[in-house]
Amino acid sequence: MSDQSPFMPFLAPAPVTFVRGSGTDLWDIGGKHYLDFLGGLSVVALGHSHPAISAAIAHQCNTLMHVSNLFMNNRGADAAQRVNALLRDATGHAGQVFFTNSGAEANETALKLARKFGGRGRHVVVSAYGSFHGRTLATLAATGQPAKHEAFQPMPEGFRYVTFNDIAALDAALDPSVAAVLLEPVQGEGGVVPAEIDYLRAARTLCDERGALLMIDEIQTGFGRTGKWFGFQHAGIAPDVVTMAKAMGNGFPVGAVWARREIAAVFEPGDHGSTYSGNALATAVVSAVIDELRRIDAPALAAARGLGLSAKLAAIAGVESVRGRGLLLAVELAGGDSKTVQADLLAAGLVTNAVTATALRLAPPLTVSSAEIDEAVAILAGVLKARL
Ligand code: PLP
Repeated sequence: MSDQSPFMPFLAPAPVTFVRGSGTDLWDIGGKHYLDFLGGLSVVALGHSHPAISAAIAHQCNTLMHVSNLFMNNRGADAAQRVNALLRDATGHAGQVFFTNSGAEANETALKLARKFGGRGRHVVVSAYGSFHGRTLATLAATGQPAKHEAFQPMPEGFRYVTFNDIAALDAALDPSVAAVLLEPVQGEGGVVPAEIDYLRAARTLCDERGALLMIDEIQTGFGRTGKWFGFQHAGIAPDVVTMAKAMGNGFPVGAVWARREIAAVFEPGDHGSTYSGNALATAVVSAVIDELRRIDAPALAAARGLGLSAKLAAIAGVESVRGRGLLLAVELAGGDSKTVQADLLAAGLVTNAVTATALRLAPPLTVSSAEIDEAVAILAGVLKARL
């Protein structure tokens, strides 16, 4: 960005300015059409400008947006019940929820919960190399990417990293100073790397043996994207704490942390809070999103469309392999150089993300149609063919 930019210089110059979206479609400021196969980074699960979500937002804006947390609003409890019901069904446990404005704040709350649960001397949180848990200081410290820490040293104390999908490493790391293990069911930012089923199961067993909490970060994977409501369900495990955001607002900024009731109970009034937690507008959106995701059976859609999409991608010349779960996929390119391919795809009207130097990430709306999948596959095949 030029030094005339009004924004802090965190991002590389953006190649496109979008002005409108509908379903999987996006249009830029020049009127050019794109297929959005990134879904706002796993956010827009129901597609852009979804009428039910837009209507819920408009209705709530015209009714009540916000009162302070000194009072209740009539929308927060509805949304909390919906989140608790999803997680009760997924884990078999009754739980409680705290709403946040973002994923990082959801993880930040989970980290505070782990510390309060463990107590002094038992406050270490173990996470995996390659993970991503947020950009606040504590969630950055929990993010197992040491290069991202460097500019901000010293990091908050009490974080330990282990090799992802290595059960022996996790076993060795869980000494009595550990309050919790924090894992993504699919490492999203780390390259769309699924946790192995046995790894998640071993993490559950080890946490039970050592008395540590198992906290699962579902911020990128939750709400159906992987083909189940939550990514941990692929392993049939029940975490103690689950964090979520992204798809739960379909583009409205909202997140949440859920914990089993007896664990949430370690929090006392005054331990934590946020002006906008449970805000009427945000929680009206959450309820509308969950209702719509349930109505369309989003996990089943993601599972079916994900299978179809990955089979078609794998058949393209120039694609080495496809990995991921449901509609959170990475396409490993035979020729590497994902950045150039991503740019060529954008020019050809397909939005993707170069998640590693050699792989593209795809996270289209779960409502993506078969025709849109065919169109996206044809665009990728064309771009890769032109490079052969
Ligand atoms: N955790 C995971 C797994 C994520 O993918 C992200 C964002 O990409 C975050 C946490 C941080 O969420 P937010 O950007 O809403 O703070």
